Amino acid sequence: MTAIPGTESRTRQSDTAAEVVGRLRATFNTGVTRGLDWRVDQLQRLRALLVENEQELLEALWADLRKNPAEAKMQEIDFTVADIDETLANLESWLEPRPVEVPAHFGPTTAYTTYDPLGVVLVIAPWNFPLHLLIDPIIGALAAGNTVVAKPSEMSVHTSAVASRLLRQYFDADVLTVVEGGAEETTALLAQRFDQIFYTGNGTVGRIVMAAAAKHLTPVTLELGGKSPVFVAPDADVDETAKRPVGAKFGNAGQQCIAPDYVLADPATAAALVPALRTAVDAQFGSTPQTSAGFGRIINERHFDRLTALLDSGRAAVGGRHDRDDLFIAPTVLTDVDPASPVMQEEIFGPILPVVEVEDLDAAIAFINERDKPLALYAFTTSEATKSRLVNETSSGGVAWGQPVMQLLMPGLPFGGVGESGMGRYHGRYSLETFSHLKAVADVPLN
Ligand code: NAD
Repeated sequence: MTAIPGTESRTRQSDTAAEVVGRLRATFNTGVTRGLDWRVDQLQRLRALLVENEQELLEALWADLRKNPAEAKMQEIDFTVADIDETLANLESWLEPRPVEVPAHFGPTTAYTTYDPLGVVLVIAPWNFPLHLLIDPIIGALAAGNTVVAKPSEMSVHTSAVASRLLRQYFDADVLTVVEGGAEETTALLAQRFDQIFYTGNGTVGRIVMAAAAKHLTPVTLELGGKSPVFVAPDADVDETAKRPVGAKFGNAGQQCIAPDYVLADPATAAALVPALRTAVDAQFGSTPQTSAGFGRIINERHFDRLTALLDSGRAAVGGRHDRDDLFIAPTVLTDVDPASPVMQEEIFGPILPVVEVEDLDAAIAFINERDKPLALYAFTTSEATKSRLVNETSSGGVAWGQPVMQLLMPGLPFGGVGESGMGRYHGRYSLETFSHLKAVADVPLN
């Protein structure tokens, strides 16, 4: 059997995937993970890990993606700590059994639902928010009373190394084991029987994960991506509109699963929007974004080459400059984009925003529905009728009007995709549901 590299510390170097899962299952089977105190203790460890090592984590995020420390603190640390705090504040009440109404003809019977932990959970994380997307699913997994194998992305080398070391330091390896590595190590893990697999990344690997899970009838949550459209209606104030997608699109150099992927607008709105986007990009990143401390870098040469090839799909009305040695691609707006061109065939996942002209709202809805279901749909409009048509006549993981990404930031809303953008959901109480079995209990008295 293959040894799993990166499971040193309290785990033996020679541990195989089967041994790792076996140890975690043994812990689960003792029943210790079911108690509220145990769960609270694990969540407090996770919180302490983030708060006590903030500086080191921010330095690693800068090294991987040149993430601006203030932005990285907000997105990767504070946002994750807020999810822990919400869970700590509510876990006890979330876990309370929920009675259901019993029909009178059943007599003095009671019935309720209760959240049952699943067992051993595998969390596979991507590189673009390499800390948040590793830790956030773990919050739900531990809150629900499971033991965890955490598999960070091998592509975000610095953050994954620091996060792995800290997870080993803060957690008992019989509760949470980190396995570092890429496809080979993940394949070895996927051969094991888990009780839940939570995967964030692209759909190609999502299919591999799901096929492996099917062998053990293991449930999966797939947090995938896709091409999230932005519809700009003729009634929108283009200057205000332009500022808002700029932040959401070009943060982390566009490497965000819920970044606006492309804009749909009628020709007159598009003509007004493009100069407004140029003004907004200049206001946010200055005339030389390469020297802006607020603009990130592409993760590696492979993605840089993929992205620069997409620039040929239109005319760079804003930006277009790039520098391979620095993995820099300027915030770019493409016009004259043919819907059949390469930039419209795949998720962009970089700082390139195509503007595609459509005749009207009907055409925009048809355009969206002809393509895979996206993770997000955004629109800028003052018309409630337009919002209502978009929400009711299209399918996407979530929607936000007037401010992209708000559907993710809002506490209390579930986050997840549909169709090609994924399956399942999490955040807050929805994470508890994802990592638990909702058990039905009926109690008929004997006398
Ligand atoms: P990635 O390359 O880091 O891969 C994700 C994980 O899959 C990694 O841990 C990697 O080791 C593992 N992996 C890679 N190849 C594998 C294989 N053959 N078998 C098993 N495991 C394998 O990240 P990525 O996929 O490039 O991430 C970008 C994608 O993720 C985009 O499509 C983006 O939209 C999506 N994404 C979605 C969300 C969300 O929450 N829905 C968040 C971030 C990213």
